Order: sequence, then structure tokens, then C-alpha cells
Amino acid sequence: MPDFSLTPEQESLRDLARKFARAEMAPQAAECDRIGRFPEEIYRKAYELGLMNLNVPTEYGGSGLGVVDQCLIVEELAHACGGMTTSVIANCLALEPILLGGTPAQKERILSPFCAKYQLASFCLTEPSGGSDAGGLKTRARKDGDQYVLDGEKCFITNAPHASLYTVFATVDPELRHKGITAFVVPRSAAGVTPGKDEEKMGHRASSTSTVRFEGVRVPATDRLGAEGEGFSLAMRTLDQTRTPIGALATGIAQAALDHAAAYALKRQTFGKPIAEHQAIQIKLANMAQAVHAARLLTWHAAWTIDHGAKGTLESSIAKCFASDAALEVADEAIQTFGGYGYMKAYPVEKLLRDAKLTQIYEGANEIQRTVIARELLQKYA
Ligand SMILES: Cc1cc2nc3c(=O)[nH]c(=O)nc-3n(C[C@H](O)[C@H](O)[C@H](O)COP(=O)(O)OP(=O)(O)OC[C@H]3O[C@@H](n4cnc5c(N)ncnc54)[C@H](O)[C@@H]3O)c2cc1C
Repeated sequence: MPDFSLTPEQESLRDLARKFARAEMAPQAAECDRIGRFPEEIYRKAYELGLMNLNVPTEYGGSGLGVVDQCLIVEELAHACGGMTTSVIANCLALEPILLGGTPAQKERILSPFCAKYQLASFCLTEPSGGSDAGGLKTRARKDGDQYVLDGEKCFITNAPHASLYTVFATVDPELRHKGITAFVVPRSAAGVTPGKDEEKMGHRASSTSTVRFEGVRVPATDRLGAEGEGFSLAMRTLDQTRTPIGALATGIAQAALDHAAAYALKRQTFGKPIAEHQAIQIKLANMAQAVHAARLLTWHAAWTIDHGAKGTLESSIAKCFASDAALEVADEAIQTFGGYGYMKAYPVEKLLRDAKLTQIYEGANEIQRTVIARELLQKYA
């Protein structure tokens, strides 16, 4: 059984993230959401505090944290702003394929200079023709001597307009489907790389999302991660690692919704008493608290499983799927607790609902998570 007590180091990591989230992120969250501002100065501070390249070992200049530690940080950040958190943790997603598939020489050559200063990286898997069916991606990688030439377009790429490095998944032969997919590291400065303009989004508006075009981009074979055809497995193994922190991100949003709802319920009076004294509201708050607690425990369990050397595909899919569904439900109930004020942008809870929604979609939509859960589950009965 996992031990849920935190070490003194974990307590101080969580305190550091909480203080940063409350002092730097929370005061800017509503305004960044309103105007869709990408607060780079906040991301720079997150980097300076060691809250950005969480999964990169310290020998390459990262924070060298396990998944439990990452989840503690991510939940605190997301409590203040889901969108900022998405941008802060996008480096973990983008750099994980290098950690999993890079040679020691590639890690030293690419990660050490990257992590030595504030920089952003993007994970480029999804394409306009589809994200769930990643095995069918169309971006081509043609071998030309000791180089590859990349052509194609990615979409919905977090931080793409601001990133200096992309991990790109392309196929050496579309006929081979997932067996042709190969991963590359591509600097933004390479000729033929063009990020698109920032998308207008429903939520996570402090984060930046755009297309990236690759037109005749020449990549040295030394910047290929793993062998040709290993990219699909690398992408899936990456998502196995990074999906659990999305559960933590969803938990942070849900906890914020519960905190706002409970505080409001104690203040708001109807029929001569605080609405917190009406049983219907108490039941609502109790259900919200159960959902938040269960989301956190499932997330911690998945993180613990991965930190103990297991792949954690089943556990991370369960955690991400449950926590994101819980975040949406809890944010919805928080709005209901606020009544009409909950629907107003002047109050914080409608943003939480919009931010929660994304957690059901990205890093594998929840329909795909349920497919994965069913597949893993049924294997045990076959
Ligand atoms: C704000 C934002 C940030 C993102 N950041 C990144 C990023 O940094 N890098 C990146 O690569 N991608 C990123 N994504 C893309 C994201 O991962 C995809 O949107 C997601 O995987 C779904 O792909 P899709 O949008 O093409 O939907 P589709 O694959 O077209 O799916 C549409 C619907 O059909 C369902 N569906 C599809 N296939 C099946 C099936 N077999 N069974 C049941 N249901 C199915 C899906 O669950 C979904 O509900 C981001 C997306 C958003 C919105």
C-alpha cells in the first residue's frame, strides 16, 4: 500500500508551489483569462524557482522530480490558474521523449543548454486530420543522406508561438501507420519552421496554442530520437508519464471550485440564514468534497505506481479521466452554489468550468482513456 504521508522535502516543494501560485499567478489569473494574455514574466519566475523542467534530471539542469512530486506542484499551480499551469508544465511533456528516447550524448547536447536558461519547448503530435488516431499522422520525414526533411502541419500545440524547441512526430512511411512514426528534435530556428497565430480558446487563455508548419525542414539524423519507427511508442510512453500530472491539474481546479463554493455558502444568506445551512447546499458541498478527494487519491496512486517503476498506463488513464470529469462536475456545482453570480465573469467560478473542460480533451480525450482502461482491464480477464 502506498504511504500517503509527505516527506519534509515534499512538504517544502508543495509550500514553494503554493506560495508562488498565490503570490504571482492568482492575482493575474482573471485578467490574463479576460484578455488572453500569455504572462511570460510569470513563466520566467516559475523557471527561476525550479517549477518548470520538473521531470528533467538535475544533471541536465532540471528539477529531477518524480511524478508524485510533480503532482504536488501541479495541483497547487492549477488551484491558482489552469491555463498558466498548462504552459508551465508543457516543457515536461515536450522534453519527456528526449528523456525516454534520447542517448546520453543527445540528452547532454540538447537538454543541458536548453535547461540552462528560461526557454519553452512544445510537444508536436496532434495534426489537423486528428489527434486521437495518432498512428495515422501525416507529417512526412524523408531521409536525405544524413538528414531528414520534414513536411507537414501540427495543430493545437501548447506554447508553440513562444517555444525555441519542438519534439516532432513524423512518419517515414504513412503506409506503415504507427510503425512508421519517428521522433525528432527540431529547433525553432531551423529554416521552414513556422508557428501559427495564437488560437482564441474557451479556457486556459493564459496559455498559448497554435499550429506549427514544417516546410522542407532539414533535421540532422543525430536529432532523431530512437530508431525509425519508434516514435509512436515514444509518444505513448511519454503520455503515460505526463497524463497523471493532468489529473493533478484537474484536481487543483476542482479544489479551487470547492474552496470558492464553501466560502461563498457561508457568507450568502437566503431565508434568513447562510445557504451553507440549507441541506441541499450541504449535500452539494459534500459531493464536491468527495469528488476532489477521490481525484487526488487516484492521482497520487497513479503517480506512486509510476515512481515505483511500473508503466502505469491503467492507473494514469483512470486518474486523468476521473479527475477531469470530477473537475467539470465540481466547477459546475460551484457555479450552481453561487447562483446567478456564478454565471458572471466578475466571480471566479465560471473560469474554472471553462478551464476544467480542457482536461477532458487534451493528453488523450476521455473517450480514448476509457478505451485504454477497458483494454487494460479486459486483458486481465481474457
Ligand atoms: C488547448 C489545447 C492544447 C493542446 N496541446 C497539445 C500539445 O501541446 N501537443 C499536442 O500534440 N496536442 C495538443 N492538443 C491536442 C489534443 O491532445 C487533441 O485535441 C486530443 O488528443 C483530441 O484530438 P482531436 O482534437 O483531433 O479530436 P479527434 O481525435 O478528432 O476526436 C474527436 C472526438 O471523437 C472521440 N474519438 C476519437 N476516436 C475515438 C475512438 N476510437 N473511440 C471513441 N471516441 C473517439 C474523441 O474522444 C473526441 O471526443 C491540445 C489540444 C487543446 C484543445
